[in-house]
Amino acid sequence: MNRAMTTTLHHYVGGRKVPGESGRAGDIYNPATGQVIRQVPLASQAEVEAAIATAQEAFPGWAAVPAGRRAQIMFNFRDLIRKNMDRLAESVSSEHGKTLDDAKGSITRGLEVVEFACGISQLLKGEYSESVASGVDSWSMRQPLGVCAGITPFNFPAMVPMWMFPMAIACGNTFVLKPSEKDPSCPLLLAELMTEAGLPDGVLNVVNGDKEAVDTLLTDPRVQAISFVGSTKIGEYIYHTGTQHNKRVQALCGAKNHMLVMPDADMDQVVDAVMGAAYGSAGERCMAISVVVTVGEDTADQMMEKLLPRVEALKVGPYTDLGSEMGPVVTPEARDRVNGYIDKGVEEGATLVRDGRGIQVAGHEHGCFVGATIFDNVRTDMSIYTDEIFGPVLSVVRADSYEDAVGMINDHEYGNGTAIFTRDGDAARDFSHRIQIGMVGVNVPIPVPLAFHSFGGWKRSLFGDHAIHGPEGVRFYTKLKTITERWPSGIRSGAVFNFRAGGEH
Ligand code: NAD
Repeated sequence: MNRAMTTTLHHYVGGRKVPGESGRAGDIYNPATGQVIRQVPLASQAEVEAAIATAQEAFPGWAAVPAGRRAQIMFNFRDLIRKNMDRLAESVSSEHGKTLDDAKGSITRGLEVVEFACGISQLLKGEYSESVASGVDSWSMRQPLGVCAGITPFNFPAMVPMWMFPMAIACGNTFVLKPSEKDPSCPLLLAELMTEAGLPDGVLNVVNGDKEAVDTLLTDPRVQAISFVGSTKIGEYIYHTGTQHNKRVQALCGAKNHMLVMPDADMDQVVDAVMGAAYGSAGERCMAISVVVTVGEDTADQMMEKLLPRVEALKVGPYTDLGSEMGPVVTPEARDRVNGYIDKGVEEGATLVRDGRGIQVAGHEHGCFVGATIFDNVRTDMSIYTDEIFGPVLSVVRADSYEDAVGMINDHEYGNGTAIFTRDGDAARDFSHRIQIGMVGVNVPIPVPLAFHSFGGWKRSLFGDHAIHGPEGVRFYTKLKTITERWPSGIRSGAVFNFRAGGEH
């Protein structure tokens, strides 16, 4: 084991750092060196239950805080994120491997959710109907659920937790976050910043852990709602287990995002888009483009001619080298898995145009690097097409027609994101309407909705009824109450025994 001197992280419960007591810990790597740099405690059931109890105790007080005051804490948190941007980005890059610019970009996307949550007073406004019957008025309000939990993936250790807890907390809930055990330092820092922003102790808690921690959150009756982001296999389990225990669950899962390139597309724009969308963050994004479907052989040939030199020139290196455009994948295990898929693609008969296996980065020989890889002539029955690889591996599928391409995308089990590149408005409109995918780009390769819209896929990319953040976030983290009222001075109707239309009861 390539191991440096390591320290062990902690949990964050009740507004303070709490050391792990389970006796179990996981390794955290610096992916650029392949070394274990620190350890993360893996919480026992009892430790998670203690965090839930803390959140439960904090709930009534926090729910009673006026929304405007809760918003003020979000404003303070926003300022603290900006002030600590470099420190937060360093904590992301050192454990995830992505470049510092990319880490800052992802923190900024999370920050936008915090900014949206600052408007919580407006977002929680209910509806009012005067005189629904004689002397009777009716109005609605949204109230918090109680203790909510978040279970997050390794690929966005800042942004994905910030898709969840700022909205949940602004709505008046308390929160237990279980971040990925691969890169938990940034979420722990975010919790400390929330305390510094003025959040009362116990409203936001972070427990580190693995399946034992997750299963406790899924089954404990005090937890009202679960937000999960991660792989489909685990997400499906989370959804079924959580709902069996009568919880509200949203589980955002894996993806295989196709970019459809039409013969009339601007090829320079296409190639710029593919470079960023396929290889940014080493392909470890749920909105990464991992398949390009070209319509017509000429379109494919033209794209490959322009794409290949760009891929050859891509600078792969550690985040500490500011010239790096693509970092390593997250762990040695992830590197081996991605390399295994490249082996399979070759065995299955795809044309390996550029091979990223065995890339050497000077001074980082043990790093978890995989070079940018392209397969051409990929068929839809190959595992490099069907499976989410989650690495810098691009498949090019040559379709004969637009209809074939649309059918292919609609038939794929995942439905997170997709994009069409064309100059033809008719084609773009038809594509946007018929495609069975949750987030669609027209000449935009990664169509991630901003914080005031909601993020979510279709098919096996999302289990549950609500997308995340934006207006859907408010709906997910609140329950609707509708009040119908009459006062003695209003018009009296006497005793009514039939169930009348018009709201007179
Ligand atoms: P993962 O499913 O392995 O882990 C996600 C979370 O689940 C982690 O906190 C982990 O500790 C926990 N977990 C893992 N195994 C578990 C088990 N057996 N029982 C209970 N909990 C378990 O995902 P990952 O590798 O961290 O992240 C990558 C995946 O996340 C990809 O599939 C990617 O597409 C997906 N993702 C989806 C979105 C989206 O919005 N749809 C966003 C980001 C990432």
